[in-house]
Amino acid sequence: MNKSPTPYQPIISSAAKIAVIGGGVAGSTIALRLAELGLDTTIIEKGPSLVNGPPICHLHAGGNLYREISDAQCLTLLKQSIDTVKVYPLGVNKRPTVIALPKTDKGQPSDLLPRLKKLTAKYTELVELDNRNKVLGEPENYFKFYSKAELEALAKLPIPDEAVKDTDWLIAYAKHVDLTLLKFPVLVVQEYGLSAFRFAAIASLAIENLSSCQLKTHQQVVDIISKSTTPGWQVTTKSEQSQLPQVQNFDYVINACGFKTGEIDDMVQAKRQRMVEFKAAYVAHWPECQGLWPEVVFYGERGTPQGMAQLTPYPGGYFQLHGMTQDITLFKQGLVASCQNSAQPKLAQRFVDKIDKNWPIQLVNSRTMGSIEHIAQYIPTFNTAETASKPLFGAQQIPGGDAHLRAADVSFDGKNYARAEIVKASSALAAADAILKDLIECGVITAEQIGDKLTEHYFPISQQSSEQEVTNRAMTLAKQRNYPAALAKNF
Ligand SMILES: Cc1cc2nc3c(=O)[nH]c(=O)nc-3n(C[C@H](O)[C@H](O)[C@H](O)COP(=O)(O)OP(=O)(O)OC[C@H]3O[C@@H](n4cnc5c(N)ncnc54)[C@H](O)[C@@H]3O)c2cc1C
Repeated sequence: MNKSPTPYQPIISSAAKIAVIGGGVAGSTIALRLAELGLDTTIIEKGPSLVNGPPICHLHAGGNLYREISDAQCLTLLKQSIDTVKVYPLGVNKRPTVIALPKTDKGQPSDLLPRLKKLTAKYTELVELDNRNKVLGEPENYFKFYSKAELEALAKLPIPDEAVKDTDWLIAYAKHVDLTLLKFPVLVVQEYGLSAFRFAAIASLAIENLSSCQLKTHQQVVDIISKSTTPGWQVTTKSEQSQLPQVQNFDYVINACGFKTGEIDDMVQAKRQRMVEFKAAYVAHWPECQGLWPEVVFYGERGTPQGMAQLTPYPGGYFQLHGMTQDITLFKQGLVASCQNSAQPKLAQRFVDKIDKNWPIQLVNSRTMGSIEHIAQYIPTFNTAETASKPLFGAQQIPGGDAHLRAADVSFDGKNYARAEIVKASSALAAADAILKDLIECGVITAEQIGDKLTEHYFPISQQSSEQEVTNRAMTLAKQRNYPAALAKNF
């Protein structure tokens, strides 16, 4: 494809060649970060397009979906999410998240307060440091609790199509949720949505316009060996189109293969402990749905029949559903760990088949209907929702041995080799930043060449696409992947 002329000036002039293996959220973000600076970057992706791995719907700006993780991880996710909104504003669906504790839950709403105060203090500090960080609204409004009486009063109002006041987000919720099942107060927090399709569109459009970035799709890395003379790597790829393997030399390799990161680690004999978890979310259409919906979360103990229920809204009555039970989002034996001999955890064949081939239609229907019933426990009218498409699914890696880890970015092994290990999409920029520092450490570039762009996120090309261009491309991608176009629209 011919790259169109670009108005930007590359920051770096360097002969170094960098390979990014895998074009998911991590690989695309890292490649954009390096190529926007002018570094010669090649993405090698075995699939047909960018950001086509496991789903992303929630930004996690504060980690409030996870009561079980440390406050430190929540604060990291908050900062990383703010950076993500600043770099990819058109990838974000700007609506709050309403979190309720059902009466069946062991916790109390007041248990959430200490962490919310820490998150508000951190957000305040970040905004005081730089006003451009104010992407989640006013810091004093980062979270708010609502009493039962307040919700009952809101339930009497007509459901608006647009949010003028903060409480407008709660009207549909107050009307449809069975408030008798909840503990009060209910929490509203400024955790927004993040759209995988819009993210894929932003990255694809940017790479088409960046002469420093080459995208090689349908190319699988099958071997990688260390060069004997100078630091660097010889990377062998194969494609379905050609039986002949291709060999290319790179000065620095970034392994961003998602749940397959261990396969490349094994090729370069890099030891690493990690886990891989297969999970799925479901897509439902609720024709009776009207007006504005926030993201809705009902807490529950993970892995039990009362596991957390999550409803993510999209335009036109479409919703993405999670239920943290073994019969909805989670799967028996869906979490596996690496071993002494291999850094690649081995998923059972039935999960590999789900990733590589189609799901059986009965399973699509039974799991989606299960997710609808799970939500309908709390939103009874939601029981008229129907299966809208195949699920959104995939396996994600979790570095180390703690299955609850949610804030992770990158690790390094020897010289000129990095591996992205994000658990959440918002950590991809932090991985890219750390890789830039390692490029300096390894002598691939110098600190003088990069100057203040080491700390400043420089993404002029990624940010030049218009809202309409992003929406059009995201809708095309959703259609190609057999998902409703609504999932690609801005909400
Ligand atoms: C059900 C579910 C819901 C989720 N919801 C959210 C959410 O709301 N918010 C959030 O932030 N995160 C969410 N996640 C996690 C998120 O999807 C992942 O963390 C993220 O996609 C990881 O991105 P990645 O780029 O590291 O990996 P991937 O997206 O898996 O990308 C890796 C890429 O590498 C390619 N590849 C692999 N091997 C090779 C090879 N040998 N050669 C060439 N290419 C190769 C693959 O084709 C793939 O495109 C969810 C995950 C699941 C499973």
